[in-house]
Amino acid sequence: QIIGTPKEIVKGEARVAMTPDSALQLQKLGYQCAIQSGAGVMAGFSDEAYEKAGVEVIKTAKGLWEKADIIAKVRQPETRELKYLVKGKTLISFFNPAGNEEGMTAAKEAGANVIAMEMVPRISRAQKMDALSSMANIAGYRAVIEAGNNFGRFFTGQITAAGKVPPAKVMVVGAGVAGLAAIGASVSLGAITYAFDVRPEVAEQVESMGAEFVYLDFEEEQQDGAATGGYASVSSPEFREAQLAKFRELAPEVDIVITTALIPNREAPKLWLADMVAAMKTGSVIVDLAAERGGNVEGTVMDEKVVTENGVTIIGYTDFPSRMAAQSSTLYSTNIRHMMTDLTPEKDGQVNHNMEDDVIRGATVTFEGEVTFPPPPPKVK
Ligand code: NAD
Repeated sequence: QIIGTPKEIVKGEARVAMTPDSALQLQKLGYQCAIQSGAGVMAGFSDEAYEKAGVEVIKTAKGLWEKADIIAKVRQPETRELKYLVKGKTLISFFNPAGNEEGMTAAKEAGANVIAMEMVPRISRAQKMDALSSMANIAGYRAVIEAGNNFGRFFTGQITAAGKVPPAKVMVVGAGVAGLAAIGASVSLGAITYAFDVRPEVAEQVESMGAEFVYLDFEEEQQDGAATGGYASVSSPEFREAQLAKFRELAPEVDIVITTALIPNREAPKLWLADMVAAMKTGSVIVDLAAERGGNVEGTVMDEKVVTENGVTIIGYTDFPSRMAAQSSTLYSTNIRHMMTDLTPEKDGQVNHNMEDDVIRGATVTFEGEVTFPPPPPKVK
């Protein structure tokens, strides 16, 4: 069978779902590979590089979609791509099954099989296919780089002939995958780094990375994330008040705030309120990684950079992985390649779409004319 990757059509999207390296691996599974001309250019992969890796370069999107049995891409297909999704084809892509009625209906009616990368179960065995994590890791790192780029000072403290420079203070709110990556980047640049999460079990990870966990003066037990598969739920009003009081105290102290707090299936909680933004020093920078889900910060404008009256820059970009397209394409195409490995147990270049397999079942949202979303809970950890 043939695996093909079209050029992404969402404006500004620079990632590509197949790299020359991943194509070589896919060929070892027995597949032929095809790519649309120019699909890798924005991520730094030329048509020639694909050709050298044995990939057929196809001129048009139409030609590519028609030729490929399996289509690997990054963004959920747009209307003009959905028409190519016909019976017998398998699409592997982010697909947003809960919020993409058009795509789900089109795939079901066509009888196409769709594997939604955001639905890969977050169990140990599936980590190598976990594109949400690989992209969140990049977003967290890039958030720090972006903050630095907008911050007029050093991260690290220095004693120089021209004077003593204090280290920057960075606060990371939410220490999941993106938050931990931000903490890692911030600590390695030399900033004094603080982090907070409602799940107290991450305190140890935060501290082992050289950052300081912010504890609240709060008697009751905080959230037990382990009970909900590592995800947070909505905080009690008392807990929230204690959290906001702590942030209020820290706001005038910190130079950079990176927020990553999310609760599954909900708007992002508002945690850095307008009065905290107003209390920050001129020249401070906030990066709100929750912007796409409504933002953690009062004042975030999605996909924009705004500067407040008191001179605080608030960044609400939602395309951080795409801003590091070479890296994100490498990791994403590796996630896809691992998915293909599991779909090809015989290494014979033929998809064996085994719906008994927890990971494949979990990620499959339409199969042979049926909607298979949401999946039953996985049986194994
Ligand atoms: P996420 O993107 O849903 O949320 C980001 C973070 O925000 C979470 O750590 C959450 O606790 C935190 N948060 C929510 N409300 C908050 C609030 N009011 N204040 C402060 N923080 C708040 O989560 P994620 O990064 O995708 O993953 C969370 C966890 O899931 C990970 O840390 C990990 O333990 C687990 N996980 C496991 C696997 C695996 O086993 N394969 C893969 C990925 C993640």
